[in-house]
Amino acid sequence: MTNELARALTDAVRFLHDHDDFLVVAHTNPDGDATASVLAMACILERLGKRYTLANEGETPRRYAFLPRADRIVNHGRHPLGRTYTAAIALDCADLERIGDVRNVLAPNAAVLNIDHHVTNTRYGSVNLVVPQDAATAQVVYRLAQAAGVALDAELATCLYAGILSDTGGFRYANTTAEALRVAGELVAAGVRPDVVAERILELLTEPQLRLLQRVLPSLERYGDGRIACLTVTLEDVAAAQATRGDLEGLVAYARNLEGVAVGVLFREDAPDAVKVSLRAREPVDVARIAQEFGGGGHVRAAGCTLRVPLDEAKRRVIARLERETEGLSLVP
Ligand code: 5GP
Ligand code: MN
Repeated sequence: MTNELARALTDAVRFLHDHDDFLVVAHTNPDGDATASVLAMACILERLGKRYTLANEGETPRRYAFLPRADRIVNHGRHPLGRTYTAAIALDCADLERIGDVRNVLAPNAAVLNIDHHVTNTRYGSVNLVVPQDAATAQVVYRLAQAAGVALDAELATCLYAGILSDTGGFRYANTTAEALRVAGELVAAGVRPDVVAERILELLTEPQLRLLQRVLPSLERYGDGRIACLTVTLEDVAAAQATRGDLEGLVAYARNLEGVAVGVLFREDAPDAVKVSLRAREPVDVARIAQEFGGGGHVRAAGCTLRVPLDEAKRRVIARLERETEGLSLVP
């Protein structure tokens, strides 16, 4: 462990001891790592005898509802929190804008503990515990639990494991390091049921998810000599499939996994003038940098951004940029 990380851990533990009442929040439209990290943090705060509120902008996807205390996460978009907070823990957020409207309940001088693993993290916290080499924010939360002397029980271990499983795509992506696997092993030893967690997070399909897949697969387009594969989800698709945000998770993999593709893209129409773009790359393409150019961020091979323009315009801009990036490119086999 570097001195810098050891210091950040000490500061983060002090942050937990220095405050008594916390707002715990992750990014808008939370995914597996975001949800699991929030719930792991709730376990830790409970064990330290602290009060907390769990809130996100956006619904907790149903596939994570089995995690302990998942029902305590307030969807601030639907049920606005009626008060402000002077201490907050932001999880899995590369910048503070990522918490969305939950920002409105932070007191002007609120202290923020920033716990994250994105290379693009802007160090916006009063304390920054940012570990880009960690596979998931949940792995960083594991470090914090260890540093705070909170022993693993089955509930905490299950949340931590769920985050790591989810962000490594079931221990398949390049972030599946020896350390991530070691931690996962320790979590299983502490009582995690890996079959149950994998079944819920990776295997389970909802019917809307299948209906959406049926509608979206025909939208496949290839650009840049086939190196770019795009899928498009319109507002109409989501409505017709009776799908929710959680049903869109993983769709982009169908684009990126196609043979010969360097970048897979999912364009999701969020409003007539707002398009969420998910980028997934194969080595050596860096999509974190490209997402950043469009005001977003993420990881080298998995990143995203939102463009406030109509769907056609968003597609034109992003595809043009990706064509430049992948011109003459040969993939690392
Ligand atoms: P997804 O495409 O699944 O939404 O996100 C892929 C990765 O990029 C995740 O690590 C996510 O946190 C990050 N990401 C997605 N959208 C944005 C964004 O608008 N801003 C930033 N900073 N990161 C994003
Ligand atoms: Mn993450």
